[in-house]
Amino acid sequence: MGIVDNILDQIKNNKCETDNVFYQALEEVLDSLKPVLASDTRYARHAILERLIVPDRIVKFKVVWMDDNQNIQVNTGYRVQFNNALGPYKGGLRFHPSVNEGILKFLGFEQIFKNSLTGLPIGGGKGGSDFNPKGKSDFEIMKFCSAFMTELHKYIGPRIDVPAGDIGVGAREIGYLFGEYKKITSSYEGVLTGKPFMFGGSLMRPEATGYGVVFFTDEMLKYAGKKLEDKICCVSGSGNVAIHTIEKLYHMKAKPVTCSDSKGAIYDARGIDLDYLKELKLVQRGSLEEYAKTHSDAIYTKVEDYPTNGHEVWQIPCDYAFPCATQNELTLVDAQHLVENGVVAVTEGANMPSTPEAIEYLQKNNILFAPAKAANAGGVAVSEFEMSQNASMSKWTFEKVEERLELTMRAIFKRVHLTASDYGYDGNYIHGANIAGFKKVADAMITEGI
Ligand code: NDP
Repeated sequence: MGIVDNILDQIKNNKCETDNVFYQALEEVLDSLKPVLASDTRYARHAILERLIVPDRIVKFKVVWMDDNQNIQVNTGYRVQFNNALGPYKGGLRFHPSVNEGILKFLGFEQIFKNSLTGLPIGGGKGGSDFNPKGKSDFEIMKFCSAFMTELHKYIGPRIDVPAGDIGVGAREIGYLFGEYKKITSSYEGVLTGKPFMFGGSLMRPEATGYGVVFFTDEMLKYAGKKLEDKICCVSGSGNVAIHTIEKLYHMKAKPVTCSDSKGAIYDARGIDLDYLKELKLVQRGSLEEYAKTHSDAIYTKVEDYPTNGHEVWQIPCDYAFPCATQNELTLVDAQHLVENGVVAVTEGANMPSTPEAIEYLQKNNILFAPAKAANAGGVAVSEFEMSQNASMSKWTFEKVEERLELTMRAIFKRVHLTASDYGYDGNYIHGANIAGFKKVADAMITEGI
């Protein structure tokens, strides 16, 4: 039995139920690394895998806050500081009732490789809370964010750990978190990214992940002699990543026809009405059901089986598919529908949105597949640009940020493509991303000693 199987066996025997997604992520990465470990014995000698799969630390804390009815509420907060071999821990905060330690370990682990792929000096981390922002007043969101930061501030700092947004955490939440940090520490510093522009945020941070997803896809398609122009695209989700993926697809003259949320999915054959979608989801924070009421040609399918919904999107015939909602939303059955309907490429906008069975099926059918840790790295790349701007007290223009983002995403594709070829995995961008991300972190860990 090889080192990888030994490690996976040990973890499998000791894991609890919430570790399932973490184990899924580990299995995929470690499988990719087998040829690297076989050809370079330094990694085994320095116990790199054993060290890399355990977070440096996990902070878990109580968050007590008062709701608008003056009831006291208690939630759990976390920060998983996974690996800082390449730079300060960096990764988002997720506020969602499904959040637990296992989900954050999975996201933090993926973040190490994603951040490494950007070529920028950032380590990997993730955090959040089981707090549900849905239906809460602005005042309640502020109260919760203040209480969360009262504890979190002890563990973060511009050179230690720089959190950002994720599901349920956008500019509003980052603003409140930043305000509380400033109050507690009396320090005005770039401790969070995704800040509103007026106090240190970078232009284009909200757009960065979705735009990056499309730049990556465009580069991948170019290598395959294909293009985005005039092609039908199915996108799931309707949050930050999905909306800006749709926006950039329009810039590239493609036609996005679907989106979804936690209650249902929209199919609009004329193309998603982006201005309306932005107003509905980003300003009114409403449900997609409203979209169908105002767009008579659009088809709305309500879904009951949350949290594994969104599958209707994958039944619509399309050239390219972009899962941008949440983990494990695209299953084997969905992959089968996509292939039957002639899909050519799938790019992951969300983190690990495709199940292992779905990926296997897509790859067997020669569908181009762009994995999340490479394709959605644009968000964290622009977060690092925000850190640079904060450190030098400068402001970059929208054009400069977008140009750097595009260069970064196209460079990530090339790195992933070449690495896959070097290890005999031509066109397998999962292996390419895992190996390229791993080698940089592992080499830094060896150089830094134990
Ligand atoms: P948002 O909170 O802005 O949006 C999430 C979207 O997904 C919403 O439309 C939400 O519906 C929908 N959704 C959430 N859970 C489910 C579910 N179980 N089934 C169906 N739909 C669901 O999050 P983001 O757009 O920021 O994040 C989306 C994904 O992208 C996540 O996997 C995140 O980790 C990843 N990501 C985000 C980055 C960023 O910069 N924001 C960077 C890199 C990755 P509803 O509107 O009903 O809540």
